[in-house]
Amino acid sequence: MLSFESLLQALRATVGVANVLTDGDLCAWEQDWRKRERGKALAVVRPASTLEVAEVVKACALAGVSIVPQGGNTGMVVGSTPDASGTQVVLSLQRMNQVRVLDEANLTITVEAGCVLQTVQDTCEKAGFLFPLSLASEGTCTIGGNLGTNAGGTQVVRYGNTRELCLGLEVVTAQGDIWNGLSGLRKDNTGYDLRHLFIGSEGTLGVITAATMRLYPMPAAQLTSFAALPSLEAAGFAGLAHRF
Ligand SMILES: Cc1cc2nc3c(=O)[nH]c(=O)nc-3n(C[C@H](O)[C@H](O)[C@H](O)COP(=O)(O)OP(=O)(O)OC[C@H]3O[C@@H](n4cnc5c(N)ncnc54)[C@H](O)[C@@H]3O)c2cc1C
Repeated sequence: MLSFESLLQALRATVGVANVLTDGDLCAWEQDWRKRERGKALAVVRPASTLEVAEVVKACALAGVSIVPQGGNTGMVVGSTPDASGTQVVLSLQRMNQVRVLDEANLTITVEAGCVLQTVQDTCEKAGFLFPLSLASEGTCTIGGNLGTNAGGTQVVRYGNTRELCLGLEVVTAQGDIWNGLSGLRKDNTGYDLRHLFIGSEGTLGVITAATMRLYPMPAAQLTSFAALPSLEAAGFAGLAHRF
């Protein structure tokens, strides 16, 4: 079993001294955004690649240290901050923020988990496509966090939760193995679909390091209407009438 000090040395060797934070004000990583809980991390670790994430997970497993993955730390249920024990590692994906490829022919985009949602939206819009996930935290939250929470957002009824927008995942499992499930296939019936286990699991089963997401053609026009209804029941009927 690695001691905490040996673990910190191994982490520094993997991601660089500057990316293992143990001193100073770590409030941005240790506290949830609503300031309801403040934890204490053994360290905040900021890897820059999937390989580095895998090495970090393996080293933490050897030391028996649990990991809290973190994206933009905008989640609502205090799932991205450490407890108060001072024994957990916060694994921040913020440096893994690259768009890997936008496939115009297949209507997909593959991005690293720390990519900010708004960056994904803007990249797609510039290329003439719509990435429909939209929520008020989009300037800060990340695709990894959106997948970890299976976020809904303002267009969920039309386009579905983040789960419905995801075609493939790359994940570092709890053993430190890299599972490459990045695929842009719409029709994929090859057995178990591990992707759905990781989506919505709040980082409990592995660390999402990249994702292939579904795009749509940019709508030619949008119309906003306001409907005032007398009751909840009437709202149901209005929805059905709209559908048929
Ligand atoms: C103003 C505001 C509006 C919001 N509106 C909505 C809304 O309309 N709909 C909705 O569903 N949610 C909404 N949310 C909450 C929403 O869940 C988050 O904003 C977003 O999805 C979380 O992304 P994040 O990168 O900040 O994740 P974090 O808060 O950092 O993490 C959230 C969870 O995912 C896990 N996680 C993070 N990254 C990874 C990863 N790479 N691999 C595995 N697990 C990971 C964390 O451990 C944690 O459990 C809102 C939040 C705010 C602040």
